[in-house]
Amino acid sequence: MSEMRFNPITLDWVVMAPERALRPDDFVRAAEKLVRPQHRDGCPFCTGNEALTPAEIARTSAADGSWLVRVVPNKYSVFNAAQDLQRKKNGIFRSMAAAGVHEVVVEHPRHDVDICDMSAEHLTLVLRMYRERYQALRSHPLVESIVIFKNQGQRAGSSLEHSHSQVMAAPVLSSQVIMRLQEARRFHELEGGCLYCAVMREEMLAEERIIETGASFVAFMPYAALSPYHTWIFPCQHQTAFDEISDEEIVELAGMLSRLLRRLKAAAGAPDYNITIRSAPVGEVSSGCFHWYLSVVSRISQLAGFELGSGTYINSMRPERCAERLREVAL
Ligand SMILES: [Zn+2]
Ligand SMILES: [Zn+2]
Repeated sequence: MSEMRFNPITLDWVVMAPERALRPDDFVRAAEKLVRPQHRDGCPFCTGNEALTPAEIARTSAADGSWLVRVVPNKYSVFNAAQDLQRKKNGIFRSMAAAGVHEVVVEHPRHDVDICDMSAEHLTLVLRMYRERYQALRSHPLVESIVIFKNQGQRAGSSLEHSHSQVMAAPVLSSQVIMRLQEARRFHELEGGCLYCAVMREEMLAEERIIETGASFVAFMPYAALSPYHTWIFPCQHQTAFDEISDEEIVELAGMLSRLLRRLKAAAGAPDYNITIRSAPVGEVSSGCFHWYLSVVSRISQLAGFELGSGTYINSMRPERCAERLREVAL
């Protein structure tokens, strides 16, 4: 029987409707056997083609001087370098300059290496670069929020084969973030403490949606997961902003993320997915109400009219079942 579940962090209602679903195995579509070359002429992210990107912002170098991770401005940036917001009002309508930063993190010099195929050591370098860019953009005078994300595969919105992530620093907070902050503050005032820590404690007690626990992180599927294999990784100790992560913790997170992505590939037939790091908005770090986390959303099911029209999601596979399937994968 279907039931509706509520996510106290995102305030989303989700209809758990596994009986609508195809059998779990029907999700397992044949992994596309696209054989990609190690290097592609004309790919702006391949070694040797560096001149095809705008001027480099940062890099992680190997001992021989070649690069392992590279950051460049997004050639098709949605934001511009406006120095002030130029706010305008026209009756009920408001607008302002799209002042912000949009960068690309090229995760690996080789064209044929996806994020789930990278070693945990290499993924550590990628996460370190995320932290470096987060720290650099945090001090940008007009930036309110920083989103680090990755689109893996076309269904997740990726348009280039070569594995890369993006960092976007925006001059606004979305209504979604504002609502989550309000809820976190409300919980803090009424219940005391952090809403995210409370959710994590309950998930650890329940155990059935946990995929893996480590010294500093826990990977689990939210009680009201939005879609099959929707996974969160939380820092176990309360941390408000992503850049509070230590070097040691980055190593652990890289290992956990690498295992999660390999489990997902094996259990769910190499689905496309999005990875996002959700961190406290720049102006909210001091309140301590937020708790940063990493989210992996597989793109197995697509949003349809009901989701768009109602804002309520339908998940056709219970998170308990998905977590069990991921735990069963032998790595
Ligand atoms: Zn390439
Ligand atoms: Zn917390």
